[in-house]
Amino acid sequence: MIPDVATPDVVTPDGPPVRGFAVTVGDSGTAPAAGGCAPAFLTTGPVREIAGAGLRGWAVTGPDAAAPDAALARTGVLLCGELYHRDRLLDTIGGEPDGDSDADLVAHAWRTLGRGGLRLLNGRFAAVILAGGDRAALLVTDHAGGVPLFVAADRGRWHVATEAKCLRGDDGRPVPGTRPTPRRPGVRQVRGATAVELPGVAEPVRSWPTWTPPQHRSTVAADVAAVRLRGVLDDAVRTRIGPGCAVVLSGGVDSGAVTALAARHTTPRTITMGTEVADEFAAARAVAEHVGTDHHEVRLRSADVTAALPWAVAAAEIVDAEVVEYLLPLVALYRRLPPTRLLTGYGADIPLGGMHRQERSPTTLDETITAEIAEVDVLNEMSPVVGGFAGHWATHPYWDREVLDLLLGLPATRKLRDGTDKWVLRAAVAADLPAATAYRAKLGVHEGSGSQSAWTAALREHGVPADAVAAAKTAVVAACHDEVVARRVHPADVDLDALYSTALYSTALHSTALAGLGTVPGPLVEATAG
Ligand code: AMP
Ligand code: MG
Repeated sequence: MIPDVATPDVVTPDGPPVRGFAVTVGDSGTAPAAGGCAPAFLTTGPVREIAGAGLRGWAVTGPDAAAPDAALARTGVLLCGELYHRDRLLDTIGGEPDGDSDADLVAHAWRTLGRGGLRLLNGRFAAVILAGGDRAALLVTDHAGGVPLFVAADRGRWHVATEAKCLRGDDGRPVPGTRPTPRRPGVRQVRGATAVELPGVAEPVRSWPTWTPPQHRSTVAADVAAVRLRGVLDDAVRTRIGPGCAVVLSGGVDSGAVTALAARHTTPRTITMGTEVADEFAAARAVAEHVGTDHHEVRLRSADVTAALPWAVAAAEIVDAEVVEYLLPLVALYRRLPPTRLLTGYGADIPLGGMHRQERSPTTLDETITAEIAEVDVLNEMSPVVGGFAGHWATHPYWDREVLDLLLGLPATRKLRDGTDKWVLRAAVAADLPAATAYRAKLGVHEGSGSQSAWTAALREHGVPADAVAAAKTAVVAACHDEVVARRVHPADVDLDALYSTALYSTALHSTALAGLGTVPGPLVEATAG
């Protein structure tokens, strides 16, 4: 049975040894430093001080708390996250790494093949590599920016962290390969698929890409494409499963395919969530029974889903209300689960164009997918902190580099075919799933769980007019971000009602219709009524 609430500070053992870090590089002082702040990690787990040549700070670890120091001393690599396809990677590099950890593998790739070694890595990670020579360090992200990595320059030193809320500092030094972080001046996010080379003193910072999405499109036959997709997706699932792992299953084709492929290698647990307003339990159960899983249904109150807002914003550290809305149901579910290695069907819709099921033009679809993928590394919706706050380690097989390479290299006519959206995926797993699942129309997680309407209803109760709901969601998310990221308030300490009132009231002051109400105290509910 699934217990009610995850126990704080307990983390799933079957995850990487380092789940987050905040460190200062280019400084060999003795006391911990990362912008002079105590670490404010949302990621749960034992926090350990770490120090190596020219690097000091903290790491949030897995249960094996001794790991980061030992690995850092041996490898010179601080790695948050994990690699996949390790055997093939090792075979490709050749030689022997100094140890068994993924940090050892990264170090081995770098030392043996240099930049070319970093271009080999397929994983979900962010790393600091103490590069030696006159370089202070290399900051390296995976191909999709799957683990967000932030940097702040501070008088010749660099503060680097996997959560923006852990950082302060800004000496105005330009950092190529990064982009500004919303509402956090001076804190920059390293782009996905990027290595940033931090020099010792006064030298310019350089960066170079480690991956780019394919720009060409393959003419491979449709049925061959489907067979290949099943192969790479099966590999991606197989290299991500572990003891006791679970798939969060919506009952749609994306997570259904992950479940069916996981069931080829293990008996996975599957977990599906719904609320009193809506659920997809029947669809999920059909998959679970078809492939044979240890299946669980979790019914949350929709009030708990909207109450997950501060956790979602603190975890993803974004201000895009649409993305946050998408995260709410899963964040609410993650709060309820004991620490688990989780596989999701997240991300399939981006390379497959699944959000655009109404689109009938392959020309437009190809352009849309190309544009969306270029920005995907800074969405942060797949950040491990989403899950890590409750001790989970979540990973997303559709974000495997080989799956992405294949899907992005297919023309839109393989994604939109015979009037069917996401055709190549449906064809790939049609034999693994109930027919109704393989050809089921997409339901977004915020629709299927009723959380979109629940959040809208909550805002309407605060007096937001129907046509202002979208703007209100944006305002609430921005205010929430200021609390949990800039001011580092813990999500558990956020007074959501007060937050709604402040955010909505200050928004009302900016609207012409309500301009005359500037002195009316209290929340928008009174302001609009008056
Ligand atoms: P979506 O593509 O919007 O359906 O959601 C992305 C991923 O979140 C899915 O592939 C599932 O892994 C997970 N998910 C969505 N809805 C649910 C649900 N109701 N219960 C459990 N997991 C879900
Ligand atoms: Mg889905």
